[in-house]
Amino acid sequence: MTDSSATVRPDRRAELAAGLAQVRARIADACADAGRDRAEVTMIAVTKTYPSSDVVALAALGVSDVGENRDQEAAGKAAEVAAAGVSPRWHFIGQLQRNKARSVVRYADVVHSVDSVRLARALATAAADRERPLAALAQVSIDGAPGRGGALPDSADADSGLEPVAAAVAEASTLRLAGLMAVAPLGWAPERAFARLAEVAEAFRAVHPGATALSAGMSGDLEIAIRYGATHVRVGSALLGMRSTLR
Ligand SMILES: *Cc1c(COP(=O)(O)O)cnc(C)c1O
Repeated sequence: MTDSSATVRPDRRAELAAGLAQVRARIADACADAGRDRAEVTMIAVTKTYPSSDVVALAALGVSDVGENRDQEAAGKAAEVAAAGVSPRWHFIGQLQRNKARSVVRYADVVHSVDSVRLARALATAAADRERPLAALAQVSIDGAPGRGGALPDSADADSGLEPVAAAVAEASTLRLAGLMAVAPLGWAPERAFARLAEVAEAFRAVHPGATALSAGMSGDLEIAIRYGATHVRVGSALLGMRSTLR
């Protein structure tokens, strides 16, 4: 028995395959119900708290996109996965401090959580050594509550207004403005949250026609997010099992 972190036990592989089949069926059904093409929706497997061996196993099952929310965990995991010869697309989906930008741009292909002008600029500088621009999504605060993550759609605030954030990304040659991301606020019905997000996204695309990605929906609400136009769903527990910690 090797203790390489990239080995996965057969029973775990079967568990992941079953979870994946279920989630794929849910996404296909949701697309059919919404009259959308299945190819419009990318599933991101959110592997936070789970080992790199799970990422490798998911990749072998055809998962191409992986999401993480903490740099400290993600950096090591991405290195282990690369050492196993596997190269999924890494999506950074968590709140990001500026002093972590340098680390994140080394492994991430997409950052979903750009919610301030200062963070956009830190990422732009950090991404200077990359071969390709870093794809960046502006994270939107659906309830407009300041301080809980997310740029504010109806605010001209120079640091946290959505349009100033988008402009900071769009004008950086090292970044590519790919679209918007949001999390349904606690206490909001997902219907109401994603309907509001769809309005924000429509107005946003009128100004930024190339920014078509809409990252919304998790294990509990992905069907509703797909109905309201999500192009990326971020699925953790429905795929990998319940996490022991709440994050
Ligand atoms: C953890 C996390 C997810 C996945 O949540 P599940 O409910 O486990 O599917 C999605 N998005 C973000 C930003 C997360 O932190």
